[in-house]
Amino acid sequence: MKKPRLKFQAPTGTRDLLPEDLAYYKKIYSLAEEYAQFYGFKRIEPPILEDYELFLKSTGATTDIVEKQMYILKTKGGEILALRPEFTPSLARSYFENGMISWPHPVKLYTRGPLFRYEKPQAGRYRQFHQINFEIFGSKKPIAEIEIIWIFLKILEKLGIKKIVVEINSIGDSQCRPYYKKILTRYLKHNQHLLCATCKRRLKKNPLRVLDCKEIKCQKVIKEAPQIIDYLCEECHDHFEKVLEYLEALQIPYNLNPYLVRGLDYYTKTVFEIILEKNLQKRQNALAGGGRYDGLLRLIGKQDIPAAGVAGGVERIIEVLKDNNISFEEEQKREAKVLIAQLGDEAKIESLKLIEEFWRAKIPVEFLLTKDSLTNQLKIANRKKIKYVVIIGKEEVIKKASILRDMETGKQESIQREKLVKEIKKLLKKNK
Ligand code: AMP
Repeated sequence: MKKPRLKFQAPTGTRDLLPEDLAYYKKIYSLAEEYAQFYGFKRIEPPILEDYELFLKSTGATTDIVEKQMYILKTKGGEILALRPEFTPSLARSYFENGMISWPHPVKLYTRGPLFRYEKPQAGRYRQFHQINFEIFGSKKPIAEIEIIWIFLKILEKLGIKKIVVEINSIGDSQCRPYYKKILTRYLKHNQHLLCATCKRRLKKNPLRVLDCKEIKCQKVIKEAPQIIDYLCEECHDHFEKVLEYLEALQIPYNLNPYLVRGLDYYTKTVFEIILEKNLQKRQNALAGGGRYDGLLRLIGKQDIPAAGVAGGVERIIEVLKDNNISFEEEQKREAKVLIAQLGDEAKIESLKLIEEFWRAKIPVEFLLTKDSLTNQLKIANRKKIKYVVIIGKEEVIKKASILRDMETGKQESIQREKLVKEIKKLLKKNK
């Protein structure tokens, strides 16, 4: 049956994360955090709102993210802000703003949280989504890329995701890319009539992005296009060679993809995507993407700080987990073996104090403070198969006592309030 449309629904491309969803988020975040700590990445949390120009300058004015997907708003004070569409520019801004430049280098940062892009919603593509993000600021060594790729692969591995491949390419730097761009543009102009309308536009503004196009007609042109790998300067060439050497030495499965350029302007040298082997041909639904961006920090803080980073899509990871029937819900469930039943207002107050004692003793308890009927509370305990019920009525409050009922045997005994938690702890231990 079709659900009636409610007056208010979550905006298109966004959704409520319900308890069963959050069990996945919790697991992914906690693993990522463990890795961040162990590998020396400090967690920071930038604001969700940023100056719109931050992304315009760094992500790039002609990128899809800035041109089409950014949520922009004008405040009452006249500022133009954006809901962050990605993390890297925020972290780079924070690096300068918070004096991280004087920290021991490299500065390794970790962050996570929601991002916003006005995209056409579809499987694995939302308007509000979440990423985990690792960045290394202040190292130009190829091992920096490897470290973040390695961490990400290990997180996926620990989650139980198998058969992952790193798609990798080098897109050169300011030394060699301009020349390649010229060569590519010449080739694409020659074949302009064969390109899709979007690529015709891309050709004028950002020809490298044509290589990223998934349209079949463009694919034919792309296949014959000159490849950047043949135009890398010596420095970029050596850098990339080293990256590939490391991947091989670590036996990380990779696929050299000369057409991988990624959508953003700021990348230099290495770009990569982490993708399920079975999605390799489709070249979509990457679990994570990243690369090196040696020029980005200069755009934000006017200093040359080489950097590399990776961003992984939490929703994409969850989809793979669900496809593979991997779930973490059980871990979240706390099975209470004790229920506190109360009768009367004084007993409700006393119950709250008692719940706190159980909390301190780390014993999970159920309670039904909004219920007034004792019979009802006992029925619920029965239904939930809870073995012990603590009953507190008016008299127990006055006497500083409690009744402990074993629901299996039906036996009841009065126990002094101050001894109750200790007694229950003993019983639970015995019943283990
Ligand atoms: P990007 O920031 O575009 O490099 O994307 C990095 C990763 O974030 C991708 O590999 C996806 O896993 C994820 N991602 C990007 N955009 C979205 C989206 N609209 N919805 C869900 N996940 C996304």
